[in-house]
Amino acid sequence: MIELAGLTKRYGEKVAVDRLTFTVRPGVVTGFLGPNGAGKSTTMRMMLGLDRPTAGEVRIDGRPYDRLKDPLTSIGALLEAKAWHGGRSAFHHLLCLAQSNGIPRGRVHEVLETVGLAAVARKKTKTFSLGMGRRLGIAAALLGDPRVLLFDEPVNGLDPEGIHWIRTLMKSLAAQGRTVFVSSHLMNEMAVTADHLIVIGRGRLLADTSMAEFIRRNARSYVRIRTPERERLLDVLHEAGVTVVETLGGDVEVADGKAERIGELAAQHRIVLHELSPRQASLEEAFMRLTAQTVEYHAQDETPAPRWGADRRKGN
Ligand code: ADP
Ligand code: MG
Repeated sequence: MIELAGLTKRYGEKVAVDRLTFTVRPGVVTGFLGPNGAGKSTTMRMMLGLDRPTAGEVRIDGRPYDRLKDPLTSIGALLEAKAWHGGRSAFHHLLCLAQSNGIPRGRVHEVLETVGLAAVARKKTKTFSLGMGRRLGIAAALLGDPRVLLFDEPVNGLDPEGIHWIRTLMKSLAAQGRTVFVSSHLMNEMAVTADHLIVIGRGRLLADTSMAEFIRRNARSYVRIRTPERERLLDVLHEAGVTVVETLGGDVEVADGKAERIGELAAQHRIVLHELSPRQASLEEAFMRLTAQTVEYHAQDETPAPRWGADRRKGN
């Protein structure tokens, strides 16, 4: 279990983490979601005692990090991707880590098996691909067989096979009763990985909810229609009392409408349809709505700005 109480981190004027209070429970994968710059990595570093909170505290299974007896056996972490410039082999990298933390040598072989690196254990880590490096980082996190695991953006940059592998591993770690806390800035990735969600924006807590509840609240369903006779269809729908809520790029979208009824109306009026499809709004949209007010720099601010743009940005 990880407990945060009023956790705050300031860098000068900047409040990176703002009075976060929440609990991460064992037995489920908890997703830690927020746009870039929201404060996820800073929060995770404070959980690991790598950054000192300005205020508030974190407890790992009841204790602050610096009061854990053998930290690696309590909490393991994969932090943001780092380059492997090691001339050492994967085996030696893990062995050094094990020896300096009183972890038996046999455990090195076990974790190499778990992450699928046993066959390349003697290869120098600088020859590793991004995915192999990520597996090595995970092996290091698992070395002490900890009850609590943190993964900071573990699937960033990986191919679909690597993403699938990490997702499956996290679920199995949670199923073993461990506390699994994983950050991402991608809603759709979390939707298929996490059972519980903590959402932050600009360092503040925006949501602490089960994934099922988040989906239930946010998965708006609608019907998408494409037709070469758009105006006629709009008239027919209007007369039938069907409200068209959104029209994007010439398509017609009907909220809460039944595809069957729209199809029948179109047939009655001999209107050609090229598409009639029931859909679900993506959770990514719900996430963007939730965090819209809190994103630090919107895309438009990233284009070379006219001079007044630079002044405006200061106010952000
Ligand atoms: P995330 O991981 O969610 O993308 P971070 O925790 O990396 O966000 O950053 C949160 C905010 O804190 C950002 O605005 C970032 O620029 C700022 N920040 C992070 N680390 C430092 C630091 N060492 N010094 C100054 N500002 C920092
Ligand atoms: Mg980060």
